[in-house]
Amino acid sequence: MKTVNFSCINSVEAHDSLESIKKAYLPEVCFIGRSNVGKSSFINAILNRKRIATVSNSPGHTKKIFFYTIDNSIILVDLPGYGYAKTNKKKIQKLSDLLNIYFTTRNNLKMIFILVDSRRNLMRSDLDMISFLKNKNLDYLIVFNKADKMSKQDKLIIEKGMSDNDTKYLKKIIFCSAKTKEGIKEIKKEIIKILN
Ligand code: GDP
Repeated sequence: MKTVNFSCINSVEAHDSLESIKKAYLPEVCFIGRSNVGKSSFINAILNRKRIATVSNSPGHTKKIFFYTIDNSIILVDLPGYGYAKTNKKKIQKLSDLLNIYFTTRNNLKMIFILVDSRRNLMRSDLDMISFLKNKNLDYLIVFNKADKMSKQDKLIIEKGMSDNDTKYLKKIIFCSAKTKEGIKEIKKEIIKILN
């Protein structure tokens, strides 16, 4: 059984176009979600770092794709946040082109973690992303983030909602929080599973 030391970061690369990105030979997983969903904090929690991924209070600030090579075993990819209302059309198009190329060309991509704000549940832009990934036959898992803001009752409501039309395709629900570290171990296990 392969294990991964998530604290061992071999390299960090930032790119704003895919032309500059080299073909990778290690398996890769990526993280995506609406701006301000807590993705940077979540990645910091996975990597046991305080601020390797930039945490910001201004939504929509992450425009680049960040590649973290971990323990010479796997690449974790931080994709730019989507669905930020104040972004102009040109930027939205650029982001959508970048994501499209990324998802259609990364042959080493094994799993996509879609982060959702637990308090808001799945929003239109999340559902659009899910249908896009489903159409491309790509494997994804939904992470309900900022779970520290949820009561047990709130979580039950989300779990029950799995039978609704919009959410019935969720294979599994993982609640996470960078604040309390809830779910972080489970995410690491999901990543390690990919390597075994
Ligand atoms: P990103 O834009 O998706 O990368 O999100 P950030 O990681 O920059 O976080 C956006 C805001 O959400 C910041 O104010 C964080 O302090 C807050 N945040 C991030 N993770 C959590 C969490 O697990 N729980 C709570 N309550 N807030 C969080």
